[in-house]
Amino acid sequence: MTDMPLLSNLDAIDAAHHLHPFSDMKKLNAAGTRIIERAEGVHIFDNTGKRYLDAFAGLWCVNVGYGRTEIADATHQQMQELPYYNTFFGTTTPPATLLAQKIASHTGDTLNRVFFTNSGSEANDTWFRMARVYWKALGKPNKTQVIARKNAYHGSTIAGASLGGMRWMHEQGNLPIPGISHINQPYWYAEGGDLTPAEFGLKVARELDEKIEELGQDNVAAFVAEPIQGAGGVIVPPDTYWPEIARICRERNILLVCDEVICGFGRLGTWFGHQHYGVEPDLAPIAKGLSSGYLPIGGVLVSDRVADVMVEELGDFYHGFTYSGHPVCAAAALKNLRIIEEEGLVERVRDDIGPYFAEAWKSLEDHEVVGEAVSVGLMGGLQMAVDKATRRRYAKPDDVGTLVRNHCLENGLIMRATGDRMLASPAFTITHSQLDEMVETLRKGLDHLRDAVG
Ligand code: PLP
Repeated sequence: MTDMPLLSNLDAIDAAHHLHPFSDMKKLNAAGTRIIERAEGVHIFDNTGKRYLDAFAGLWCVNVGYGRTEIADATHQQMQELPYYNTFFGTTTPPATLLAQKIASHTGDTLNRVFFTNSGSEANDTWFRMARVYWKALGKPNKTQVIARKNAYHGSTIAGASLGGMRWMHEQGNLPIPGISHINQPYWYAEGGDLTPAEFGLKVARELDEKIEELGQDNVAAFVAEPIQGAGGVIVPPDTYWPEIARICRERNILLVCDEVICGFGRLGTWFGHQHYGVEPDLAPIAKGLSSGYLPIGGVLVSDRVADVMVEELGDFYHGFTYSGHPVCAAAALKNLRIIEEEGLVERVRDDIGPYFAEAWKSLEDHEVVGEAVSVGLMGGLQMAVDKATRRRYAKPDDVGTLVRNHCLENGLIMRATGDRMLASPAFTITHSQLDEMVETLRKGLDHLRDAVG
């Protein structure tokens, strides 16, 4: 590491000065923080030299794997040529414009424009404002309400956390802000009751129609959802869900927003998650896999329907970030997307490593404590349950997930737990044998759960 003194007391410095996101700081300071020093391929290394298989690609983002010197070189070169210039007031830079073109080459027919942000949260704030501006420009200023879903995650800004459906986030700050309501999620395992998955998918999709009716169609701007809920637990919706949602949005004339922050750029074996489900959004926030996390960059894909109104009718859109389309971040993203193209990584997820993962992951369903193990592409969710037949869940879901996650960690595997679901989202470059190792280590964690609590 350059310019960084070797510190034996980083733990103490961290406790004294660093507040971490999504962390109980009292517990963290008592336990000591994990210090990650370097990474290579799908592995990360802590300051004791311990190696972990990162089955989570950082935070669902390092899709091309760690240690890509090509991305480092591209950013180094861009730093020297032009470290910064903005895209406000009639200006652009080559990487920003070329990145927008590159993204649009993978979005299909209608999503031809990109508005750049620094993160997925800002991308959600951005489309939220765009949707309102769009309807106002069309002479429908009352179309301002947005419908989202319970247990969704759309980020941590005020709008992002409000659009998200995490109760515990709402409780910490008088959220959601006015103008946002939440309908049920398509989480059949937990909430499907006696319905088949297909019936349940239709039922929860039709809640959108009911909510539009309740609010009044002329007051609703948009509906937002992740193609597959990520942070909520990798909730794979029944097949009936998305076509019905798309039909309702179309017939009710409200904008469909697919949050592609996790699913975008190949995770489901298609360039974007909505392509997997065969639906076409009007707006789509992106981030994470855009640069594989090498530098922070996000954006909103904007359909011709919305862009044409913004371009032709609106005049100035009073919105933007100092670093919208930052040239160095854009250069990193451009190189990342070229790597994905040149190495055929989306096709690899679709045809090779995705199907291999699906089979290995599914094999865990034979374990006593596993209710279901579902996946699409390289995104997997594993539900732990007390009784498979009745889908009865553990009384303390968070404890169950933490137990298994910590066991995996001790055994050199980074996994994430959301309540009683284990989540996996490895890099697209992971090998078959690394996937075998991941599933084997997780199985030991599940054995540990069985032995500890039955
Ligand atoms: N949307 C989704 C679906 C996400 O999963 C996330 C982050 O995990 C976000 C938005 C927020 O992105 P960021 O953390 O870059 O602000």
